[in-house]
Amino acid sequence: MLEDIRKILLHESTILSRLDEMAHEIADAYRGKDVTVISVLNGSFIFVADLLRRVPLPLQVDCLSVSSYHGTKTTGTVTFRQTDLASFQDRHVLLIDDILDSGHTLHAIGERLSERGALSIRTCVLLRKQVTREREISADYVGFDIPNEFVVGYGLDYMEKYRNLPFVGVLTDDAIARGRVEA
Ligand code: 5GP
Ligand code: MG
Repeated sequence: MLEDIRKILLHESTILSRLDEMAHEIADAYRGKDVTVISVLNGSFIFVADLLRRVPLPLQVDCLSVSSYHGTKTTGTVTFRQTDLASFQDRHVLLIDDILDSGHTLHAIGERLSERGALSIRTCVLLRKQVTREREISADYVGFDIPNEFVVGYGLDYMEKYRNLPFVGVLTDDAIARGRVEA
């Protein structure tokens, strides 16, 4: 698997020390409040697991499964694989995703959640791509700003592979081409 990586953007140690800082910020913001964290699957599973274990608050955690990417391109349409969302009456919601790219995903989820009685809705992403977003959406907590490149690892996939890499990196052209042929 490592031979498919052209370069590493963020080493595991870099990610984890940033998570310490983010966890501090989140704990300070939500101390004494009723919070439900929503993990946007599949991409955020590693980020959420590492981040939330650093937040010393009695959080509730829920998951939401959506997809908008096919291969290395966003489709612009966000598909919800699960529709039975809980009510968030009198709770603060923190939405966690792996990456903010075009903004379609967080925009679509935010719209769904806004009718469910949450006291507040904030968003947290590990990565924010430096692109002109198709949707006006900003993240409240951001791990790293990265250039506009397709990245994999630490939860992020290419054709459902490479999520288990412990770092964030960029694939070789050869690995991307091979993925297209196999699809
Ligand atoms: P958006 O809806 O903001 O365009 O993109 C959000 C979703 O697209 C993310 O949750 C992620 O699944 C996927 N995505 C966006 N950029 C990348 C990328 O560089 N690599 C991977 N693997 N997924 C991405
Ligand atoms: Mg995703």
